[in-house]
Amino acid sequence: MPNTQVIHRHLHHLPPTAVAGQGMWITDSEGRRYLDASGGAAVSCLGHGHPDVIAAMHAQIDKLAYAHTGFFTTDVAEELAARLVATAPAGTSHVYFVSGGSEAVEAALKMARQYFLEKGEPQRTHFIARRQSYHGNTLGALAVGGNAWRREPFAPILIDATHVSPCYPYREQREGETPQQYGQRLANELEAAIERVGRDKVIAFVAETVGGATAGVITPVPGYFKAVREVCDRHGVLLILDEVMCGMGRTGTLHACEQEGIAPDLLVVAKGLGGGYQPIGAVLAQQRIVDAMTRGSGFFQHGHTYLGHPVACAAALAVQKVIERDGLLARVRELGAKFEAMLHEAFDSRVHVGDIRGRGLFWAVELVEDRASKRPFDPARKLHAKVKSRAMAEGLMVYPMGGTVDGRYGDHVLLAPPFVAGETELRLAVERLQGAIDAAVAQT
Ligand code: PMP
Repeated sequence: MPNTQVIHRHLHHLPPTAVAGQGMWITDSEGRRYLDASGGAAVSCLGHGHPDVIAAMHAQIDKLAYAHTGFFTTDVAEELAARLVATAPAGTSHVYFVSGGSEAVEAALKMARQYFLEKGEPQRTHFIARRQSYHGNTLGALAVGGNAWRREPFAPILIDATHVSPCYPYREQREGETPQQYGQRLANELEAAIERVGRDKVIAFVAETVGGATAGVITPVPGYFKAVREVCDRHGVLLILDEVMCGMGRTGTLHACEQEGIAPDLLVVAKGLGGGYQPIGAVLAQQRIVDAMTRGSGFFQHGHTYLGHPVACAAALAVQKVIERDGLLARVRELGAKFEAMLHEAFDSRVHVGDIRGRGLFWAVELVEDRASKRPFDPARKLHAKVKSRAMAEGLMVYPMGGTVDGRYGDHVLLAPPFVAGETELRLAVERLQGAIDAAVAQT
């Protein structure tokens, strides 16, 4: 057993001790430096040690570190909410602040349920979501999530949810099918699922706008979300978009759904909201949902001790101000295009890279044993784990993930560098990743 009293992810393996972070680099206690090309798990959008964010947190701590929302609101929470509403999809009127992505998903699920209770539709009890998705590790989020491996041990204690196909063009778009036809086929599948469950029984359809952790940055085909929105509207079903990973600028617009031309009823954000400086997530709610609760019971029947934590709100506010002041959304788009070119240059010739996909500074490469047939590596070989350890040995942080347990989909490596990354650092990250993948494939 390693010498630790912290319960780590891997109980047999003690990770390096991080002691400092600056820009795109983290240093460990041995003095080794790691190039953070995944922002942890797509969190650190401003990199590490950003002086403006740190100063804002200090200032808030000096003023007021904590006040329970059962008693008070704070200026900093109000200012952050006003900023988020002003930049949110049309119709958004209010924000609910929690401490992370899973909590935000839980809050969205409960808010959606309460909306229908207030409207006198208590029979709506069912959620529909997608296979090959990730919405968090708490029980509600896990229930709507579609990661078979994560769900499996807890399946008997999860609420019932129906899962439909993800929008995964590399694997699931049929030969001869246009992107529009593919998107429509998936929307039809959702509609059939709603009808099967009972059109008056479904609360919401839950989806990541761009699939992240489980799927490896699967970008929707054009028109898919418009068709999904139409299906939801036709049946009075709410649309909850989970942008915990893909949101807050990561894909080049503040919200990924802007690129789909739709607004969800509830939009869930986290990671990039606070950039890792503090734990914070949020649900952005449409006016009619908040109105229903206001007119009905007059409160949202939910809550946590650290709702709207002032220091977390101060950190998030500072992160969002820096993004605006420094024009970082435009930078994500410009740098993203260069990063895409670097990835193609490095991996187009690599036979074990089947797909390179992404948007903005949110990218993945999917690894295959055979490119022509897209056959994944045998999951028992745990290629993703080998890529991670080779990358760490080379001083590189990336976010590799295994495929499905049934071997249907393959391993992939997720990349989410900070918006402030330099081109030289991105080039170095791609070079090190190339080395890590080559070494890991040779080892399997
Ligand atoms: N939803 C998505 C899309 C995520 O990527 C994640 C985290 N990877 C979560 C929810 C859960 O967020 P957290 O880990 O902050 O609870």
